[in-house]
Amino acid sequence: MVKKLYPVCARCTKVVCFPLLKSGEEPPIDDAPAYCPMKLMPELIEKVTTEYDRPEVREFARLASVQEFECYEQVPGGRRTKIPRVEELIQFSHKCNYKKLGIAFCTGLANEARILTDILENKGFEVVSVRCKVGATPKERIGIREEEKIRGPGWLESMCSPIVQAEILNAVKVDMAIMLGLCIGHDTLFIKYCRVPLTVLAVKDRVFGHNPLAALYLANTSYYGRLMAKTED
Ligand code: SF4
Repeated sequence: MVKKLYPVCARCTKVVCFPLLKSGEEPPIDDAPAYCPMKLMPELIEKVTTEYDRPEVREFARLASVQEFECYEQVPGGRRTKIPRVEELIQFSHKCNYKKLGIAFCTGLANEARILTDILENKGFEVVSVRCKVGATPKERIGIREEEKIRGPGWLESMCSPIVQAEILNAVKVDMAIMLGLCIGHDTLFIKYCRVPLTVLAVKDRVFGHNPLAALYLANTSYYGRLMAKTED
């Protein structure tokens, strides 16, 4: 049976989509691997790229690329980075002329939410924030059993309610929502229901200080080698 090919950019060593050429030169697409999406789905790419022709999308994408550019600087030794993500967030929000920002945060990052609010207010933004536990809805509402409560059986435990977080920020009409440390799955729901522009400042990683990539950097060491161990069927 012939296996269907899907894009696997993560395994590509050719990277002809990002060639070191001069402006106007043609990327050598023919040299791309068979699983390259530029070979597998050229019509889709061409059609979807026309989305950038819509003036508001084009302008947003342009500002994002300008912001990306401004995160680097050329110094005698070469190119280096200069702006942490929180400053990038501030600069991009100013570029977009956003005035009101909304933070959707995890209760475990309440301190960080306060600090972020201070920072953003000091930079001139109006800042709305909504904690994940908003609504104080007991976890029983979604079928959580006593033995599945983090505080243990017998405790009242409010569920995380990312849908309510999203709908509050939608209702308040923030110019942009900022996700701060929502858990996996809760973030998925928040993204699904959020109808304003959305960005992420941080994702939840309870072990690595909310830097999940630390686990990837350790995946080939004895400390976290279990990540690479093949799972038996
Ligand atoms: S788009 Fe094609 S060339 Fe670029 S990384 Fe993916 S597979 Fe490689």
